[in-house]
Amino acid sequence: MAHTFHNFIGGRWAPARSGRTFANSNPATGEVLGEFPASGPEDVNDAVEAAAGAYPAWRLTPAPRRAEILFRAGEIMRARKQDLARAMTREMGKVLAEAGGDVQEGIDMAFHAAGEGRRMHGVTTPSEMPDKWAMSVRVPIGVVGVITPWNFPFAIPTWKLLPALVAGNTAVFKPASETPKLAWHLASILEEAGLPAGVLNLVFGNGAQVGDPLVADPRVPVISFTGSTEVGLSIATRAGALGKRVALEMGGKNAVIVMDDADLALATEAILWSAFGTTGQRCTACSRVLVHERVHDELVQHLADGARALRLGDGLDPATQVGPLINRGQVERVQSYVKIGFDEGAKLVAGGVPATEGALAKGCFFRPTVFAGVRPDARIAVEEIFGPVLSVVKVKDFAEAVRINNASRFGLSSSIFTRDVNRAFAAMRDLDTGLVYVNHGTTGAEIHLPFGGMRGTGNGHREAGHTLLDPFTEWKSIYVDFSGRLQRAQIDIV
Ligand code: NAD
Repeated sequence: MAHTFHNFIGGRWAPARSGRTFANSNPATGEVLGEFPASGPEDVNDAVEAAAGAYPAWRLTPAPRRAEILFRAGEIMRARKQDLARAMTREMGKVLAEAGGDVQEGIDMAFHAAGEGRRMHGVTTPSEMPDKWAMSVRVPIGVVGVITPWNFPFAIPTWKLLPALVAGNTAVFKPASETPKLAWHLASILEEAGLPAGVLNLVFGNGAQVGDPLVADPRVPVISFTGSTEVGLSIATRAGALGKRVALEMGGKNAVIVMDDADLALATEAILWSAFGTTGQRCTACSRVLVHERVHDELVQHLADGARALRLGDGLDPATQVGPLINRGQVERVQSYVKIGFDEGAKLVAGGVPATEGALAKGCFFRPTVFAGVRPDARIAVEEIFGPVLSVVKVKDFAEAVRINNASRFGLSSSIFTRDVNRAFAAMRDLDTGLVYVNHGTTGAEIHLPFGGMRGTGNGHREAGHTLLDPFTEWKSIYVDFSGRLQRAQIDIV
């Protein structure tokens, strides 16, 4: 019998009021891992009430004290890193080393966010009047609604929750239904670290039953969302109509540009890692290569050979390089895009089929796939597939590569391989994406730099970095007049 897990509301672990549950399973083996509450609006209501109730005291807890809890949480995460990584591999499939990286991001964020407890700098500035003091300070906003995807089931929730909490907000956290276990671990760690009851509330369940009511609740002024563009925009529409602040991190279609002077061996290695790491299920995954015509054929050959050589399997096996897709639905989606690629006249040079031999038959495996001869406006070159499918597009020159890169509906990450320093700087200036890499693939962001995308990827917010508190705080400007008389700004000018 699979273990049954509970929601965490007001400091208590409890089932959904309806008593209903759903199961999560291992995408490499099909094994059921646990039963989680299939919550509904009534559970969201309880969670928001608990978060709103905890807010007045948490807001007034000194920020360095709030931060101490986060430091403790970071220590616990560090001590349990291997266990958390194994739990993640079992739940969502990414290979163990990558799962360790996901947990490490959470550890890094715990310490980075906790450091803000003794910074959270404001601004003082001279007043235009004599005997008057002027300053701006950050203040928390209230109850933050956090909605997250399954592909970084530990890191992404920490990017949102830990900055929100250190700033003095309370939170209701709705994780993806595919990865409830890692959310359970995160909430348990924060509880163990000493977070007061009600400051963090965790409600399991699907988008319609839990996400929707959270977005609609008037007591939740901020929604921080990471996931697909389709869901993100629908949340923004509903939350925007209610006057809420909405921070969105959505889809990507990230390109690596390879110029004719590039180190092709390095570019090949980096593209394979960016395209097929996490089985292509990273928002920053490389899914397009824009390659100079002079090195096109050679690069395609290297990529095809490299993709075919990647070892598929259970991510717990140290020999595995590519794990499963998250579920059967995603296998079907990838398969349908391969058909679209054929129909569009692209040339398949590697993969293109599910992998079903031996033990792979029990899981959701798909062969790393490379298409060459892809038109820049083909659907496989512009739509997010979120799987191990790479489209190679031939370009005449740097200007054409930049044009194609920037024509994307999305704008998360891009990269260029070149040895020409002038071209590298032109690329840094001209590539319209929130992340730009030079001589590196499109993945590998570090948590102390702002993270987010332009156009269809986001709505102007940045997580992490020095901007980590921005989505979760308001600026308050304060004037203190110690002249003892009425001084009218802009009017009583001497
Ligand atoms: P998804 O949009 O299907 O789900 C994301 C979350 O939204 C889940 O918790 C889901 O239950 C919830 N949800 C679904 N419908 C909802 C509704 N009507 N109201 C409120 N919440 C709702 O995305 P996914 O499949 O979990 O994740 C994959 C997507 O996430 C990809 O598009 C990927 O690019 C994107 N992503 C983006 C970033 C980034 O930082 N830009 C990072 C990781 C993933």
